[in-house]
Amino acid sequence: MKRPRILSGMRPTGPLHLGNYMGALDNWVRLQDSYECFFSIVDWHSLTTDYADPGAVRENVLEVATDWLASGLDPARSTLFVQSLVPQHAELHLLLSMIVPVPWLERVPTYKEQQQNLSDKDLSTYGFLGYPLLQTADIIVYKADAVPVGEDQAPHIEIAREIVRRFNNLYGEVFPEPQTLLTEAKRIPGTDGRKMSKSYGNAIYIKEDPENVRPKLRPMVTDPARKRRTDPGDPEICPVFDLHKVFSPPGVREWAAQGCRTAGIGCLDCKKALADHLLARLAEVHARRPEFASRPDTVWDVLVEGSRKAREVAEATMDDVRSAMKIRYDVKK
Ligand code: SF4
Repeated sequence: MKRPRILSGMRPTGPLHLGNYMGALDNWVRLQDSYECFFSIVDWHSLTTDYADPGAVRENVLEVATDWLASGLDPARSTLFVQSLVPQHAELHLLLSMIVPVPWLERVPTYKEQQQNLSDKDLSTYGFLGYPLLQTADIIVYKADAVPVGEDQAPHIEIAREIVRRFNNLYGEVFPEPQTLLTEAKRIPGTDGRKMSKSYGNAIYIKEDPENVRPKLRPMVTDPARKRRTDPGDPEICPVFDLHKVFSPPGVREWAAQGCRTAGIGCLDCKKALADHLLARLAEVHARRPEFASRPDTVWDVLVEGSRKAREVAEATMDDVRSAMKIRYDVKK
């Protein structure tokens, strides 16, 4: 039986951290069992905000792909590719730009939000405004049935569906409307308690030597009211406990919560238990990564071969699109 097709992508911003891993990658690894998966390193997307500084893109593509393979994305089951090696995305983006009204793009919630957040960059470019259009092209060029996303990304899928409806109304049924495959949002705080992010300097990376993880966790922010070992704490406001919720089994979580509330354990005991379970959870990834990291040519080969496969699928779609838009000249119609 044909499995439903999904597509998702990641920007090549550098080595992946636990937020990327638990927020997306770990889920993608599981989805490989039930879906036909296309996973893309979306290098053009990184240029929508970092166009002035593209020096690290190539290296970052390799870092992301190495983390993907170490995490268990399997090129025998999934198509792993680089967006810019599949120029059909750009062609479809251009054609969609003919039919999509600018206000549709301006009202995407993240548009204004990101312009404000990244005020050190000039984001008054067409590329940045057109980002949801490129994302739509990424999805529908594979006629994907669904897109695994967190809730914050759901509006982008909604605009993709609107664009598909407009295209199909104008030119006939070419694309299925992609569905949202909502993934469970896991809160992964960094060592300073804020959301884990490379730019905050609070991240723990997949590639990190396990020996460095414990010293990073030791000074991690806790319940600020728990100043002394004898003070009881509140695990529900402690970022360390947020990580326990993700990495530790229920019995350990209970032990930590109870010990915290009664001052029966110290924060260092609590962090040590977290480190044990976090490292156990990542043990396979840590074991696999050095092998891939030592063979960058093999990693590139995976991406080149995946991109070749992706191009075949994307080109078949573009044949349909060109026919529908009456700009296909290699056939007599
Ligand atoms: S005991 Fe654990 S949950 Fe409680 S404040 Fe310390 S680190 Fe946080």
